[in-house]
Amino acid sequence: MIQKFDVKSRETLDKIKTYIPGMPIWEVKKLYGLSSVVKLASNENPLGPSPKVIQAIHSSLAELHRYPDSKLDLSQNQLIVTNGGDELIKLLSETFLEPEDEIVLPSPTFSEYEFGADLMGAVIKSVPFDDEYRFDISAILSALSERTKLVYICSPNNPTGTYLPREDLKRLLDQLPDGILVVLDSAYSHYATAEDFTNGVEFVRLGYPIVVLQTFSKIYALAGIRVGFGAAPENVIQKILKVKEPFNVNALAQVAATAALEDHEHFQKSLLENSIGREQLYKAFEELRIPFTESMANFILAEVGPNAELIYNALLKRGVIVRYGATFGLPNHIRFSIGAVRENEFLIQTLREVMYS
Ligand SMILES: *Cc1c(COP(=O)(O)O)cnc(C)c1O
Repeated sequence: MIQKFDVKSRETLDKIKTYIPGMPIWEVKKLYGLSSVVKLASNENPLGPSPKVIQAIHSSLAELHRYPDSKLDLSQNQLIVTNGGDELIKLLSETFLEPEDEIVLPSPTFSEYEFGADLMGAVIKSVPFDDEYRFDISAILSALSERTKLVYICSPNNPTGTYLPREDLKRLLDQLPDGILVVLDSAYSHYATAEDFTNGVEFVRLGYPIVVLQTFSKIYALAGIRVGFGAAPENVIQKILKVKEPFNVNALAQVAATAALEDHEHFQKSLLENSIGREQLYKAFEELRIPFTESMANFILAEVGPNAELIYNALLKRGVIVRYGATFGLPNHIRFSIGAVRENEFLIQTLREVMYS
């Protein structure tokens, strides 16, 4: 008989809750005996990947016995290619955070920043948004301390859909004490239409202490293959490269990302689909009297009220998967990913049924 055993993990891991992903379509179908289910929970591109990406992957399958190249075909020393944007967040944490160092982040935001900090035993200082979920730069600046290493700005922010205007980012960077790095998470930047929006790359070029995160999971519709990248001044990239696994991005992901960057038509189509869907959902929320925050991304945060959890569960049972806000500390809210027009229509109908019958 094997003895019971307990190998103690690092103490800082005690705080970390294992990530629970949203339910996939097949599971909801099985659970509720449904034949059609719409998933509007993970900010995926409803059009799916470009046909050119699929073709490119297909053509490279015969080379799978080779190790992948360790770089992408892009201007190199200010870039790092990663196994999704999530890997970059983990690498940043491993590179810069000693135990008791601090990260500053507006709240609510993407959960991976906290995960990275917890992993390293770092301390999280969260700064609330204002009433309309706008970034409060003065509050962020006052939250900085001697121990601050990273300031995370997600723009457009997941889950609020709000963004940080260029001038405000510049003010933050100009007033940033030495020794602190701004991480600008631009996962949704392609969807942003505001004139004063910036994806941050211009500040990398100017040599500011900033890392811009990008992903192929959202507008490029490659969430399943795992690829993203960071852009930063060379001395920052050099440091992060020390903690990266040599072959972190698989060969098919590289092929897919390269082909995706070249298909401008699919990109434009995806943008258009999203802006149509966004208007469609805005209009429906107005009709249903559901307050929402205008979004620069491919999801909308809506305040459905104190019954939000009931509504979330009722939608799930009828085959619409969305994201309940409690995980973001917003128990009266639901985050709706913008789907294709027919998916949105199904959501709207179901929502009407659930709320008014
Ligand atoms: C989706 C997402 C990412 C990156 O996702 P990956 O699939 O790991 O590339 C990063 N930041 C935010 C805010 C996201 O929503």
